[in-house]
Amino acid sequence: QVPVLCIDGPTASGKGTVAAAVARALGYHFLDSGAMYRITAYAALRAGHAIGPESETAIAAMAATLPVRFDDGRIWLDTEDVTDAIRTEEAGMNASKVSALPSVRAALVDLQLSFRRLPGLVADGRDMGTVIFPAAPLKVYLTASAERRAERRHKQLISKGISTTIATLRADLEARDARDASRPVAPLRAAADALTLDNSDLTVQACVDRVLAWWDQRQGF
Ligand code: C5P
Repeated sequence: QVPVLCIDGPTASGKGTVAAAVARALGYHFLDSGAMYRITAYAALRAGHAIGPESETAIAAMAATLPVRFDDGRIWLDTEDVTDAIRTEEAGMNASKVSALPSVRAALVDLQLSFRRLPGLVADGRDMGTVIFPAAPLKVYLTASAERRAERRHKQLISKGISTTIATLRADLEARDARDASRPVAPLRAAADALTLDNSDLTVQACVDRVLAWWDQRQGF
């Protein structure tokens, strides 16, 4: 039995940072499921498909055989290093659009399940606890106020030399959350047995410590 710890939540809630740190602390594998949707959208655009229901069959076929490789912090699509290209705000919005297509979601299930390997897995996304790993012993729903999330994203982008405003980012992330929460398949929501952690006023380290303490409790330490 491979132990799985799920961390789901809305856009820019710090899931990726917290999940990666928890995985490092436990020596577990890490699944960034959002990256799969980002790469799928990127590959679809590159192949000339429109990002919408009219391309659902074609995009799902691509997703089922996505030549993706996660290697030492870099993400490869075939021979192209897409690590930075899939991290833009636009790539996130495109990912949200392809992720609303039910057959695209279905096509990515096996790839996500393949990350469940010993000694364990920390999985980050929107439906890790509700759909992909429903039997996981610990499900965390990590959230923060829209204001805080927009501020943090703004700081991140500014440090990369990308100029934008907090108001624009907040509008974008609220639009993405609204789409993610209202889609018919695997909508964004906390699993019934998830523990919610609002990190609006917590440091990354405090979140990581909280999650690790919950994990220890679950393991009976
Ligand atoms: O987490 P990240 O921002 O990289 O995810 C990009 C988009 O992919 C999300 O806005 C969401 O629409 C979609 N996604 C999803 N299910 C997941 C992970 C991400 O639908 N498990």
